[in-house]
Amino acid sequence: MKIVQKFGGTSVADIPKIRSAANKVKSEVDKGNKVIVVVSAMAGVTNQLVGYCKDFPSSYNLREYDVVVSAGEQITSGLMSIALQDLNISSISLLGWQIPILANDAHAKALIDSIDTSKILSHLDRGEVVVVPGFQGVNKKNDIVTLGRGGSDITAVAIAASVDANYCDIYTDVDGVYTSDPRIVKNARKIDKITYEEMLEMASLGAKVLQTRSVELAMKFNVSLRVLSSFSGAPGTLICSEEKVVEKEIVSGIAHSMDEAKITLVSVEDRPGIAASIFHTLSEYNINVDMIVQNVSEDGSTDLTFTVSKHELLSAKNAVENNQEIKWRKLLIDDDVSKVSVVGVGMKSHAGVAKTMFKALAEKNINIEVISTSEIKVSVLIKAAFTKEALVCLHKAFDLDQ
Ligand code: ASP
Ligand code: MG
Repeated sequence: MKIVQKFGGTSVADIPKIRSAANKVKSEVDKGNKVIVVVSAMAGVTNQLVGYCKDFPSSYNLREYDVVVSAGEQITSGLMSIALQDLNISSISLLGWQIPILANDAHAKALIDSIDTSKILSHLDRGEVVVVPGFQGVNKKNDIVTLGRGGSDITAVAIAASVDANYCDIYTDVDGVYTSDPRIVKNARKIDKITYEEMLEMASLGAKVLQTRSVELAMKFNVSLRVLSSFSGAPGTLICSEEKVVEKEIVSGIAHSMDEAKITLVSVEDRPGIAASIFHTLSEYNINVDMIVQNVSEDGSTDLTFTVSKHELLSAKNAVENNQEIKWRKLLIDDDVSKVSVVGVGMKSHAGVAKTMFKALAEKNINIEVISTSEIKVSVLIKAAFTKEALVCLHKAFDLDQ
């Protein structure tokens, strides 16, 4: 088999951890597998490098920022290769530009265009392990670019897709994806198998195990992703296509996000073009809108509520206030809210999920402020203080407790 093993920052945080990661590689090599290792920077290093750049008050040049922040992964690539050689495994590190991993020009958030697999494959054929730094690529001008924070997951999945690997194993400091945040819900269980779609919802809803774009990429190229712990031998979570999940759960997990803020426009005019105008303005300010609700109108006006990320609340407020085309009676903002979601592919074919959810919340006297749904999730916005209680009661209501 061909396997990509990706080690996150906490898994390569110091030399003993790099040695133990190298041992995980060795056990795959010993089974006769061809292995490509993708590494993150040692824990904390990228933050430190970003901090150096930010020390220069005048806005620094992103080309040079990428030269600086990509360095962390170069260090761990070399060290990982040395650690493997120390275990008598032939290995070679290949940096982004040496492969090359071609990406576009968007410094600090580049997208991968293509990966030339010829060098990687010829080293694998020689029986060597290839070590690749995550997070970096090279653009057409031969400048180093980085893929955005957390981008090593993207490198791992992109390489797995390009060499048609059997598995892309993501080694991290948790042993899988859980039915809810185990720090909050003590009865949370590890999920054995979850679909890409569910994982995408969970990831974008705050389950920070995998970078969201890497899951999108895995879904697009049908890469079997496994989330595994670097520190235990426990079986992890497999993220795969729906066909491979035989026992589909109606609800697989309860996710939450504290990064929510709500804006309400009270008594906006109700005529064609109002919503278009408001959301046009928000998109011009580059603000991502999440939930949207609009009421029916009786007197020619209506209330419109939407949510944005907490850190974008003030710019969203400014954006709306600067829009001269629309009038409203009152603008209310509230950032003391959280979003709680139930996620599951089984919802596509089962009724009653919303009913169970709303009933469980009602029994705890938790008020629902905004509701939004997709084919495989129901989300509600509630007061932030009730987040834990909501997660715990929903976890129980959907029979997820262990
Ligand atoms: N080292 C980079 C970061 O901290 C990329 C990664 O670890 O995935 O964002
Ligand atoms: Mg990471």
